Parts: sequence; C-alpha cells; structure tokens
Amino acid sequence: MNEYIGFNRPYLTGKEYGYIENAVESLHLSGNGSFTKKCQTYFEERYGFSRCLLTSSCTDALEMAAILCNVGPGDEVIMPSYTFVSTANAFVLRGAKIVFCDSRTDHPGMDEDQLEALITPCTKVIVPVHYAGVACDMDKIMALAEKHGVFVVEDAAQAIDSFYTDGRGVQRPLGSIGHLAAFSFHETKNIISGEGGMLVINHPEFEKRAEVIWEKGTNRSAFFRGEVDKYGWMDMGSSFLPSEMVAAFLWAQLESLDDIQSRRKAIWTAYYDALSLHPVLKNYLPQRPEWTTNNAHMFYLVLSSLEQRSDLIAFLKTKNIQAVFHYQSLHASPFHLQREEPVSLPNCERYSDCLVRLPFFYTMDQGRVIEALNQWKG
Ligand SMILES: *Cc1c(COP(=O)(O)O)cnc(C)c1O
Repeated sequence: MNEYIGFNRPYLTGKEYGYIENAVESLHLSGNGSFTKKCQTYFEERYGFSRCLLTSSCTDALEMAAILCNVGPGDEVIMPSYTFVSTANAFVLRGAKIVFCDSRTDHPGMDEDQLEALITPCTKVIVPVHYAGVACDMDKIMALAEKHGVFVVEDAAQAIDSFYTDGRGVQRPLGSIGHLAAFSFHETKNIISGEGGMLVINHPEFEKRAEVIWEKGTNRSAFFRGEVDKYGWMDMGSSFLPSEMVAAFLWAQLESLDDIQSRRKAIWTAYYDALSLHPVLKNYLPQRPEWTTNNAHMFYLVLSSLEQRSDLIAFLKTKNIQAVFHYQSLHASPFHLQREEPVSLPNCERYSDCLVRLPFFYTMDQGRVIEALNQWKG
C-alpha cells in the first residue's frame, strides 16, 4: 500500500527550534517580548498594517474585535454562514444576534449584493470572510459600512499575503481594509505557530484600547514603555497574547514566507493545470472574482452533488489519500436554530454539500494525488 497522504501536514522551516531555544534562554517567557515585537513589526512594515498584536489564536483576535466594537445585547452582526464557528462565537459571547448572509454563486465568500437587505438599525458590524484567501469585494462592503455607520472586521484567517485590487486599481493587502482584521497561524494555515493569531488595527482610535484589552484590561504595555508610572485595571480584557516561545516559532516561519508562498502557489497551479484536462473535474474547478489574488491557501472543487462528493472522497481513501469537505452551514446548526428562525441560504448549502478540499502542504507528493484523481471517472 502507498504511503498515506493526509489533507494537511505542518511544514517546518528548520529554524523553529533554534529560535524557541533563544526565547527560552532569554528568560522572557511570557508575551510581548522581542520575538512578539519582531513579528508585529514585520507585518506592519510588509503589509502597511497600522498596528498588529499577536494573539493566541484568530478566535482570540475576533473576540478582541467584538469587544473593541462595543458589541452587546441587541446588536446584530452580519457574516457569511459558510464560515468557521469562531467568526460567530466571538460576537455571540458578547450577546449579539448573528445574521447570516448567503454565499456568492461563483465563490463561497458572502454575496455582497445581498448584504444591504440584511442591514437594520441594530447592525453593528459586518464580518467578511476571505474564504481560501480570496478577497470579498471590499469597495462594496466598505461603502455600505460607511453609509450605515457600521464597523467592518475582516476574518482574514486564511488570507495572509493575499490582495484586493480596489476600484482605483490599487492592490491592497487583505487585512488592511476593514477597521479591524483577524489572522490565524493555526497549523492548517499557510504560516503557522501551532495555535496562533493576530489582530490588525487599521482604525487608529482603537489602538490604545486594543493594547489594554490584550493585556488583561491593564495599561501594562504603556507602563513598560515608561508612559505611566504604575499600571492598573483600565477596562475589560483577557489574556489574549501568546508566549514568546510561540512568537519565536512564528518568526522562523515569517523568515520563509516567500519560499512557503511560492511552493504553495506551484502546488495550486499544478492542481489547476492537471484538473483542467480531467474529463469530469474540469467542470468543477474553483473560480474567483477578478479583483483578488490567489494566496494558495487551499485547493477545492465544487462538485455537482453530495453523492458525487462522497464518492470522490471514498475513492481517494482507497488510494490512501485524504480529501475533506469543509464547513457545515452555521445557519442550519443546532445551536443557531435554538436561538433564531430557520432561513434558507441555497448557495451556502451547496458549498456545504459539494465542496471538497484536496491535500495541500509544502512537502506533499502531489503527483500521486493527481494520478489518483485521473483514475476517478466521476
Ligand atoms: C482557521 C479559521 C479561524 C480560526 O482560527 P484559529 O486560529 O484556529 O482560532 C477563523 N475563521 C476562519 C475563516 C478560519 O479559517
């Protein structure tokens, strides 16, 4: 039997252990030390983000965003139903009502044209999710947000190093456009630290408060910069910052960002080129709007039915290859249905039933996966 090819295998650049050792030897083990600052500065300089704060997860960054936007009971937050539970939980924890938007027909991202009809006087935040690193139409979303006076929090968990070309032809990094943005460095993402994430603050008025919420509701960061002579309890907050060992791991990955991205793009292109010649699968290739780049976060196909998808997954399993489906629609989840009336979001339901993701990681033997796919007759 051929060696097992799983859906994901974390990639190590080789520098991780050395930097973790440095962090340990420095005896600054808690957060907000030199590796944390190096990573934050890297993102600020490379992508022009106004301010970055590393967090223990993207989930944490989303929870910080919900606190910063002062989301509370009676507020509504609009997001796609085709997303990870953390996008919704962050706002549910603050007592908000979640209003789900359907996906686009050509892509799982939210259908920007259905957005305005969902906005009410209670809407506080819109959360576009850049699924597979594919940009939502941020011009349209930001214009609606401005018109209705709501915040935009980009769920950029999968969107590192991806860009949106705006109406004036300017390429803008995802995560730099909304008032706030959240990234993930979970081991399934392009750049990893085990668990890990980052909050990006683009709206300067949020900067000071973000740092306080990050440090358990205290002005400890300002104290260590010498700006105040003692630190105290200033606001609500939690322990959202990662330890220096985690930041050291992340730093090793960031040093190889260009290499990791070029390898992932080569894998993506090889899948696309090979499957463009496949008699069945050529009909189910991913599509993306013209305004987005491709950061090669994943390679998915949208098949014609649940049965066909199950057949492909089962076939690949006989070849010792793991392909996986993705989100179950949140609007149809047991938790949401306990709280809200049922709605029908047909595009989202189609992605829940028909989308399948192929194995995708730096060190993979892609030839074997393509060979297996070529043996599948659909
Ligand atoms: C991975 C992911 C998250 C959660 O990231 P964590 O770092 O695991 O908390 C949130 N939203 C989306 C769209 C994701 O893909």
